[in-house]
Amino acid sequence: MTSAGSSTALSDGCLFDGRFARELAEMAIPWQADEAPDPQLLVLNEPLATALGLDPGYLRSAEGLRLLTGTLVPGGATPVAQAYAGHQFGWPAPRLGDGRALLLGEVTDARGRLLDVHLKGSGRTPFSRGGDGLAVVGPMLREYIVSEAMHALGIPTTRSLAVVATGRPVLRETTLPGAVLTRVASSHLRVGSFEYAGGTGDTGLLRRLADHAISRHYPDAAEAGNPYLALFQAVTAAQASLVAQWMLAGFVHGVMNTDNMTISGETIDYGPCAFLDAFDPAAVFSSIDEAGRYSYRNQPVMAEWNLARFAESLLPLFHDVPEQAVGMAQDALGAFRRQYSAAWSAGMRAKIGLRDADDAVTSPLVDELFEILGAGRPDYTSFFRGLAGAARGDSDAVRNLLPEPDAFDAWAERWRALGPDAGMMDRVNPAYIPRNHLVEEALDAATAGDLVRLGRLLEAVTSPYDERPGLERYAAAAPDGFGPYRTFCGT
Ligand code: AMP
Ligand code: MG
Repeated sequence: MTSAGSSTALSDGCLFDGRFARELAEMAIPWQADEAPDPQLLVLNEPLATALGLDPGYLRSAEGLRLLTGTLVPGGATPVAQAYAGHQFGWPAPRLGDGRALLLGEVTDARGRLLDVHLKGSGRTPFSRGGDGLAVVGPMLREYIVSEAMHALGIPTTRSLAVVATGRPVLRETTLPGAVLTRVASSHLRVGSFEYAGGTGDTGLLRRLADHAISRHYPDAAEAGNPYLALFQAVTAAQASLVAQWMLAGFVHGVMNTDNMTISGETIDYGPCAFLDAFDPAAVFSSIDEAGRYSYRNQPVMAEWNLARFAESLLPLFHDVPEQAVGMAQDALGAFRRQYSAAWSAGMRAKIGLRDADDAVTSPLVDELFEILGAGRPDYTSFFRGLAGAARGDSDAVRNLLPEPDAFDAWAERWRALGPDAGMMDRVNPAYIPRNHLVEEALDAATAGDLVRLGRLLEAVTSPYDERPGLERYAAAAPDGFGPYRTFCGT
């Protein structure tokens, strides 16, 4: 490992810290990234770089690419592989950890927030088990596209700073070009991190991890009568809100294992994720999710299930008497359904332009709308975007998406009588999401060396509410022959 040794490599104001590595050494194995034989920058998030105090021009240089791939370790940074456990498809895995990733360190951004800089695809670590520690261009660009789209939609998420092709061939079903994603997150603390700490039986470590999480994400919890219960309550509220936002946007995460659920409430680990095309509550895109555990409609229930695992890990911190601790956990978890429902209903009221209307009026209207969606299965995103047109008196765009629009016409008459706010609808119903056929098209082209389509898609999805001429194909539903769509875990 080399050290930059001076601040000349980094613009002013950016200083790496190794806080996680220092405070939670039992869960951090100092490690180094593999050399990239021929690094080529595929995409750089210049606004994010600037917000982090990193000069985009520097990041594009040969030295900058070494920083982005982890082979040049800046002063103050201690790259580590983080330990975590997890429940994968319901089954406990006591030792997962960063098998192909490293936490480079933390930086403070322009707004004073402490953020993790993390590398995905940086080589084998002590957690790699049978894996090669590598990642390939397609899935890393997919994470870049979808996470930046989610951010632009206003949904909490990890961010993507860059994808660098390493020049290393990676053996999958065929040989594919290797890549490293440089990811930024408010932390990489996961439910699985707590399962790992809890599993060691070392309550002191568990407490230190919880204190670290409180200090980074929920400082108010430190003032509560029971700070650890307050931490659990805060994470429950954050996840209820997050998953409601996924559902409203038609996002399917695809692999909601407990190691892929953050304590911060940010979406993390974009693998086999996808947005709904035609509305389908049972939609599953992941090729490995045969039972549909993580289908679109199951996401709230799965989030609650994961939070129950989180509570179990925290029990020794809730109360010395196990029965009391369990009662406290059950009471706290009971809030999830109420919070989720309230967040979803409020979001749906905004989507139909009646944000400030009484729920007693809108709730039956929304139920009826979902009957129409279930029967007609229109393109989910186009339907809601088109609904603003119907609020303005032109229902054609929406009616054309429905095989039998009569029920919609009757619904729309009652809805319009309530005075939906079309301008507000344009601000919450996106015109552009990373549509599956467009993502595949951009990834195929980029894997073959053509980055033009990637650039256009990013241009569309990073301003999702602002409909612009020339981008019509980015707002259009998938062509008839497309689907059923299958996605694969990002290995
Ligand atoms: P994921 O499905 O990406 O959430 O990963 C689950 C676990 O598998 C984590 O511990 C990853 O670090 C590990 N993993 C995934 N892909 C690889 C790989 N190519 N090499 C080593 N470990 C991997
Ligand atoms: Mg993961």
